[in-house]
Amino acid sequence: MSDVLERFMRYVQVDSQSDPNNMDETPSTPRQHEMARFLGDELREIGCEDVAVDEHAYVTATLPASAGAEGCPALLLCAHIDSSPDAPASGVRPHVVRYEGGPLVSGVVDGVPVQTTTEQVPDLAQFVGQDIVCTDGTTLLSADDKAGVAEICALLARLVSNPDLPHPTIKVAFVPDEEIGHGAELLDLEALGARWGYTVDGEALGEFNYECFSACEATVRVRGVMVHPGAAKDVMVNAITVASEFQQLVPASERPEHTEGREGFYHPTDIEGTADALTLSYILRDFDADGFEGRKKTFRAIAAFLNDRYGEGTVEVSFREQYRNMAEKFGEAERCLVDFALEANREVGIEPVLVPARGGTDGAQLTFRGLPCPNIATGGYNAHSVREFVPVRNLELTVDLLERLVAKFAQTPGGEA
Ligand SMILES: [Zn+2]
Repeated sequence: MSDVLERFMRYVQVDSQSDPNNMDETPSTPRQHEMARFLGDELREIGCEDVAVDEHAYVTATLPASAGAEGCPALLLCAHIDSSPDAPASGVRPHVVRYEGGPLVSGVVDGVPVQTTTEQVPDLAQFVGQDIVCTDGTTLLSADDKAGVAEICALLARLVSNPDLPHPTIKVAFVPDEEIGHGAELLDLEALGARWGYTVDGEALGEFNYECFSACEATVRVRGVMVHPGAAKDVMVNAITVASEFQQLVPASERPEHTEGREGFYHPTDIEGTADALTLSYILRDFDADGFEGRKKTFRAIAAFLNDRYGEGTVEVSFREQYRNMAEKFGEAERCLVDFALEANREVGIEPVLVPARGGTDGAQLTFRGLPCPNIATGGYNAHSVREFVPVRNLELTVDLLERLVAKFAQTPGGEA
C-alpha cells in the first residue's frame, strides 16, 4: 500500500464533520478538535517544525527549505479538515474496489446497491482496471478534503526522507469548517509568513482553479399596506404580490438551473413573511467584476420600478458581499502560480483544465487577504455524497504532481517568476 493511500484510509476514519447550525463557534464541532490534534501528531511524526494546533482547530507547521532554496519565498499548502454536513459522516468504512467497468458499486444498503454509473461520472470509464476507494454506501468518504490532507502529508514525508528533492520553505495549514463557509478565516497570515500558496481541494484530477465567483447575498424587504380585505380597493398593497412580481422581473434565463461555465446567476434562497411584510433572500454570483456590479444594478432597478408602481419604500434591497473572484488579485508576479501548476500537471502526464470554480474556495479568501492561493484538485469524485470515491492512482499522481510543483518554487529566489 502506498504511503498516501495508507494515510488516506486512516484519516477518513476520524469523523470531523462540521455543523452549519453552530456557525458562531469555530470549530463548529468538538470532533474537529480531535482531527486537528491527530493531524498535529502526524506532522510531528513526519518531522515538521513549529507544529501548532490552536483553540480553533487550526493546524499549522513548517518544513524548512531544501539546501540552496532558503532564499525562496515560503509556499503555503492548505487543506480543510472538516467533512460536509450534506451526508452522514461518522463511521466511515473505506474499502478498495478493483473497478472492472459498468456501474461502480460502493456498497449495498437495504438490499439496494449504492452505485455510480458512467452516465453520472463519465470519467469513470478511464478507471477500468484500477483500484478505487469507496465507502460502504452508508456515509460519505470525506475524500473532500482528506484526500487533500493525505496528499500534503505524503508529500511532506517524501520530502523529509529525500533531502535531495528541491523545495522552498513549506508552510502547512489544515483549517476547520470550510464546508460551512469559515475555512481559512481565522488563519493568522502574518504569523504564517507565506508569500503565496495552493489549496488542495475539489474534484477531478487536472482541474485547476484560479478563478472563482464573486459572491454576495441580496436581501429584498417588501412592505405592504394592509387594510380589511373588504375595504381594500385602491388602498391595499399585498407584500406577497409585490415579492412575486420582483421574482418575475429577475431574468429567468439567469438562474443556476440554466447556467454553467462562466455564466453568473441570481438564485432565490429563502422567503419569509406575510401579506403585510416579507423578506426575499437571494445569492448573486458572477465571474466578471462589471457583471457582478451589473447584477446589483438590476436588483436596484427592479426595486425602483416596483416603488414607482406601489410607492416609495415598498421594496428595499441591500447586499452583503461574501467573497470575490481571486483572479482579480493575480498580477504579473503571481502568474507563476498558474504556469507552474499547469507545468507540474503535464510533467506527471495529466492534461490540466482551467476550471472557473462555480463557488468560493478557501483560496479566494486567502487571496483577498494578501496570500494569492489558487486550487489544485485532489482527484476525488461525488463529493458530499455516499457515492463519493477516489481512485488510488489519483491520490498517488497528486503527490507526484505536488512534488514537481514545490520544486519549481525552489528556483525562484525572491519570488521573481
Ligand atoms: Zn472541499
